[in-house]
Amino acid sequence: MKVEGLHHVTAICADAQGNVDFYAGLLGLRLVKKTVNFDAPDVYHLYYGDEQGTPGSIMTFFEFPGARAGRAGAGMVHTVCFRVGSTGALDFWERRLGDEGVRVDRGGRVLRFTDPEGLGLALMVNEDVTDAPLAAAATSVPAEHAIQGFHGVRAYANDTRTTEPILAALGMEADFGAPGRWVARGAERQGQLKWDEAPAAAGIEGAGTVHHVAWSVADDAELESFRERVRAAGARPTPIIDRQYFHSVYFRVPTGVLFELASRDIGFAVDEPAETLGEALKLPPQHESRRSELERTLTPLRVPGR
Ligand code: ZN
Repeated sequence: MKVEGLHHVTAICADAQGNVDFYAGLLGLRLVKKTVNFDAPDVYHLYYGDEQGTPGSIMTFFEFPGARAGRAGAGMVHTVCFRVGSTGALDFWERRLGDEGVRVDRGGRVLRFTDPEGLGLALMVNEDVTDAPLAAAATSVPAEHAIQGFHGVRAYANDTRTTEPILAALGMEADFGAPGRWVARGAERQGQLKWDEAPAAAGIEGAGTVHHVAWSVADDAELESFRERVRAAGARPTPIIDRQYFHSVYFRVPTGVLFELASRDIGFAVDEPAETLGEALKLPPQHESRRSELERTLTPLRVPGR
């Protein structure tokens, strides 16, 4: 049994409008759900992805208005990598980001930059990966250049040995050609995890840092099976939690990174039409009674036209 690559990656931002302008407006992802953090409903949980918010394409943010800037350190993801289809697409993004004043660092087949709050991002070309592209249809981004979903994440860690049995329990394989790289190679999608040596300075959780990384599983039956497997490998998984758009299990791996397993069997069209995903504030039943208060206190958002 193997996880099907990444399901979503969740990070923290301090400025929801700046976040929407960057991920929807500039990167051309679709805002597929505007909801609140179910565990702290005073703040937004914004989800971006392809047209449907397909697992493997979903980048999400908790907004904590005014949160101090964080810094990735040991036990934290420092870069989220997305795939694009060609080096021509990298040329396009190098120009487009540069024109907006985003500082970019181009290697041959990779383009590195940060979002406005300092979160490390990369776009890369990898013809060895044949996963179906998961792209949104933004009018300002030609289809052939669109972001196609996650390639993987890179995290800082100094000692990864005690985490290895847990990665193996998820069906991930070490890539012996590249030290520190693990690949979750599912039947249809794959995702990578790369451990990099941590900087001396301790990490600070805050704006511009990743909160957790979710791996993709089919349904509750798989969630239960993986729970047992990771527990046997030394993790302490939560019970299955209902996240409205998927069901989840969480556990922290020994390097310090918070993992989630999220199911693919529900999706974002469960509480609003697929055509208008992300337009209305959606609240889970347990927080619906607070709607009028939340609509007053949450940061008003302008979503760029598509
Ligand atoms: Zn999550």
